[in-house]
Amino acid sequence: MTVLEAIQKSADFLAKKGVASSRLNAELLLAHLLQMPRMKLYLNFDRVLAVAEIDALRELIKRRGQREPVQHITGSTSFCGLEIIVNRHALVPRPETELLAELGWQYLSAQNPTPVTVLDFGTGTGCIAIAIAAKCPDARITALDLSSEALELARENALKNRVAQQIEFLQGDGFAVLAEWCGCPQGLEPSSPNGLPGISLPQFDLIVSNPPYIASSEISTLEPEVRDFDPSLALDGGVDGLGFYRRLAVGTRPFLKPAGKIMLEFGDGQAEAIKKILTDENWIVEAVREDYSHRARILVARR
Ligand code: GLN
Repeated sequence: MTVLEAIQKSADFLAKKGVASSRLNAELLLAHLLQMPRMKLYLNFDRVLAVAEIDALRELIKRRGQREPVQHITGSTSFCGLEIIVNRHALVPRPETELLAELGWQYLSAQNPTPVTVLDFGTGTGCIAIAIAAKCPDARITALDLSSEALELARENALKNRVAQQIEFLQGDGFAVLAEWCGCPQGLEPSSPNGLPGISLPQFDLIVSNPPYIASSEISTLEPEVRDFDPSLALDGGVDGLGFYRRLAVGTRPFLKPAGKIMLEFGDGQAEAIKKILTDENWIVEAVREDYSHRARILVARR
């Protein structure tokens, strides 16, 4: 079997299994197997595959046919030009989230004086924190996640992309862990007045988050690649999908510098509801940005 025949056969099989962009997926997996850039396959269409290569490809295509995401099979994905390792403990980085990282580093690059500080709330693979760190060598980032397995992955990604020294990883559920981290008494609510004797809460120039934003009841309707392989912890935004925005609207406030900004990703059709949640908590919504498919996707707000 030649490279071209293998691609065609694999693409037909994947299409029957309901995989979107089946030809692209077949090419990506074969390129991964042969350890060559996908475009190089086109120069090798007539190459005859060895039996061992055909067997290995069959395994990869079978996994993809069972709707395992291509990024889980190849082990990584590209995010803002960086290679990010993925596994089942964190959401596979999405192209639309690149826009959040980009808005973040553009804002920080215009800040004076440096260093600037950033909180990434729910860091997952670490992709946003790592992309910002890579673009802003003066940024000091705190990356928070509830899942210790996700943080382990984020740490590995930071090391791989040589920005580990810029990022502090913190495990915990929400803002209380930040208060504890800086020595505030346990149980201190984030809304407690800042400036207890000898204690000051860390305040960031920028807080970014791509929180879980799918309504719990909608999770079962998602594509199998998302529903069965992304951790529900990274998807489930509660009854209406907006639980984390309510939390962020209140919880971020004591941790943001007076002139700082919050930048949040959200899902289709959620813009108006999130704007209301924020303005009800006295935030000024500065911008709602569309992603590359022209859907409102990122919100920028200040105090
Ligand atoms: N963007 C993801 C999706 O559409 C959801 C990510 C999230 O909940 N933050 O599947």
